[in-house]
Amino acid sequence: MRTLNWMVTATLLVSLSAVAQNAADSQPTSQPASVQMSSPVPTPEQAQPKANQQPEPPQAGPQPTTMDQVVDRFVLREKGLVKMLQARTPVVETYLQNLTLDPALGPVPQNDRYFLGRMDLSTTIDRKDYIKDDMSMEKHLLGGFSKLFKVQYQPLGFSWMIFADRNDFDRQHYDFRYVRREFLGDVRCLVFDVTPKKGTGNGRFLGRVWVEDQDYNIVRLNGTYAPRPRNSFFFHMDSWRLNLIPGYWVPAFIYSEEGDFSAGAKNQMAFKAQTRIWGYDLKKDGQSDELTNIRVDSVQDNSPAAQDASPLAAEREWQQQAEDNVVERLQRAGLLAPEGELDKILQTVVNNIEVTNNIDLPRPVRTRVLLTSPLETFSVGNTIVISRGLVDVLPDESSLAMALSHELAHIVLGHNLGSKYAFNDRMLFSDEATYQNLGFKHIPEEETAADKKAIELLKNSPYAQKLDGAGLFLKALNTRAGALNALLTAHLGNNMGEAGVVTRMTGLMTSAPQIDWNKLDQIAALPLGGRVKLNPWDDKVELIKSQPVAITSARDKMPFEVTPFFPRLMRTGSTDSTSTSGNAANSAPSAATTAADTKSAN
Ligand SMILES: [Zn+2]
Repeated sequence: MRTLNWMVTATLLVSLSAVAQNAADSQPTSQPASVQMSSPVPTPEQAQPKANQQPEPPQAGPQPTTMDQVVDRFVLREKGLVKMLQARTPVVETYLQNLTLDPALGPVPQNDRYFLGRMDLSTTIDRKDYIKDDMSMEKHLLGGFSKLFKVQYQPLGFSWMIFADRNDFDRQHYDFRYVRREFLGDVRCLVFDVTPKKGTGNGRFLGRVWVEDQDYNIVRLNGTYAPRPRNSFFFHMDSWRLNLIPGYWVPAFIYSEEGDFSAGAKNQMAFKAQTRIWGYDLKKDGQSDELTNIRVDSVQDNSPAAQDASPLAAEREWQQQAEDNVVERLQRAGLLAPEGELDKILQTVVNNIEVTNNIDLPRPVRTRVLLTSPLETFSVGNTIVISRGLVDVLPDESSLAMALSHELAHIVLGHNLGSKYAFNDRMLFSDEATYQNLGFKHIPEEETAADKKAIELLKNSPYAQKLDGAGLFLKALNTRAGALNALLTAHLGNNMGEAGVVTRMTGLMTSAPQIDWNKLDQIAALPLGGRVKLNPWDDKVELIKSQPVAITSARDKMPFEVTPFFPRLMRTGSTDSTSTSGNAANSAPSAATTAADTKSAN
């Protein structure tokens, strides 16, 4: 599995560097080190941006003419990025899968861990957790390995993951060697190998950086840290940045992987992990406008018979108030995407189920995307929330309909939770305390009733003939449920499984075909990250339009698995023709097209 992935990557790099080679041939590349001490280029860090404003793009200096000048420039730009990010507190999520070897499928998840927090990049690097870390569970799950992972989660470890070296990335501490030119996506880059100078201390960056050739920002870092102090360990990482605002490339994805299963390898650990960073444009600490920003209502009632609300109308008004409060609060905490294109697709699927079941609700059902990876759905008032991770792994539109129908059933059955959130005092908590202050878990009786109702709704819907896909997805989830406890732990809604067994809509599993990993056209579930593209600056989400990659072995399927990132880099403002993640696989039908088709038939 991993081998193949790396082969794909390697092929891509080979073809890219072939292109880059041509470009490089026409220009002088590494010149004899002409030491021309850098001209007084205006330093970008002099303009310190305030939080919540788009930072000023750095002023462009004269174009470097030697590689030494290029190094000076990207060292300067890196300092500018550190400075710009001081005013930001992005959300950071790490999802890790510890691996074991399956003879047929290759390395598969054995157990998993999940971390979610907020980074404070002001003076030092700091982090506040959304989820309390249960040390006893950690030991139980990971043994001695967790200790090593802990090292990575030292605050300084984070700075290492997003910057090469937060404080000392310069010529005094590093040697920089130009390698070649190379395209990453649409962006032509200069590639440099970076090695720490002797005697500069432990934990220095060792690896390679890619620098875009317009403003000379680092766009990708790949390597590790060295030398390592006794009793600690540095992971290898591949860190990607995106150009989301003019002049800056902000850290967005970090992939880490250790260990392999080659014969004779003495792995003390083997894991892969994805770190995602988003919410750069969130209001810092969310406190300044706390009391004015809670929305109560916005629609003026113009009906001719406008009176005091009847008891039922008042009840509905109250629920809407709670719903609006929760949606607004989750978005402000960096956990919910703003309303966008993906919601239209989700709403179309919900609408398909509603129309064919003659469901007529007093208020329309809305959908929103939770930005986190754990697989979960919940509803508050008439808003259905589905996690990014769940949308990612669903193989087709019928399984998306399955996930949404459960929440629609709660709404239809009047299982309304969360009306207490209409009291505004309940919205006054720090972002990090979101999971302690909000929750939408139903009692088991309501879960059972919702499952039953949902299957009824699906059987009356345009998805009635395609429910095998949904059942197959649940079966695939069931095979991995024991290993993926963290992925299956819902933080706001109900779990889709308990104690290693899927409990959600199990009725669909009985009629579905058997899981056959060797059947290459049977795609029961996708890897993580294959479907939803998240903009780390403004938190908007959209569906990825990636080209399907042919699956050639059972090891290519990687259901629910973590894979490397390979975002298609482009400059901000350039047109987004295609965008791909690094995932191999997946010729799943596009929910967008099918949903739109179905809608026009209504
Ligand atoms: Zn439920």
